[in-house]
Amino acid sequence: MKKIKYKRILLKISGEFLKSAAEGSINAVFIDDLIKQIQLLTKLGVQIGLVVGGGNLFRGSNLEKLGMRRTISDQIGMLSTVINGLSIYELMFKRHMQARIFASTTLAGVCERYRLDKVNKSFQSGAVVIFCFGLGIPLFTTDSSACVHGVEIQADIFLKGTKVNGVYSGDPRSNPSATLYQTLTYDDVLNKKLQVMDYTSLVLARENKLPILVFNMSDPKILYNIVTGKHPVGTLITE
Ligand code: UDP
Repeated sequence: MKKIKYKRILLKISGEFLKSAAEGSINAVFIDDLIKQIQLLTKLGVQIGLVVGGGNLFRGSNLEKLGMRRTISDQIGMLSTVINGLSIYELMFKRHMQARIFASTTLAGVCERYRLDKVNKSFQSGAVVIFCFGLGIPLFTTDSSACVHGVEIQADIFLKGTKVNGVYSGDPRSNPSATLYQTLTYDDVLNKKLQVMDYTSLVLARENKLPILVFNMSDPKILYNIVTGKHPVGTLITE
């Protein structure tokens, strides 16, 4: 039996992973690969909370630039996370996986209304829990909602999947001498102004001592390697 390092995880997937080349669609290949990875973890008994972004569809800050009010723009952004979350939920259903989808606002007939006791019951029954509609309030991001939900569900770690191997000293795409950090403190990230996530989210994680692991999602075995403790993987941010 494999030793499990993280029993309960909060996984954040940015909307950019769900962008499809086909107009009006979603990247089902990525979702299917993600589901396969998640399915393997559930077989190991890992409890998984999943927060999905909405950036492939709408971001409030972009709509605001068109002259829309920020509150409405952010509601549109949060609704995008519902579209993404439901897509993943449906494809999990097709794979006969147990999943529940919760939203931080009432979306009767679409998602369940978020309640921690219901979420915990879902974990106990072996279901994957998908959180959508962010925190339900404007001016925040899904990284913030991932941190809040991560703290609420007492996740062992917040896993932030990205398109690069972790946190670098500079942008590895434009600066070949940028080096990958294996570990950082929350304050290192803030003081060095490293581009990991918005600072509100990072401070939330710091105040609640929620460890963050930033890693490359493109490795098809990455989630398994992380939960079984195959290190070093990505960049670990702690106190
Ligand atoms: N959003 C919000 N409050 C929240 C979470 C998200 O207003 O608590 C809105 C915000 O407009 C954001 C959009 O939802 O731009 C999509 O989320 P995000 O940008 O975090 O998605 P990602 O970049 O991860 O795909």
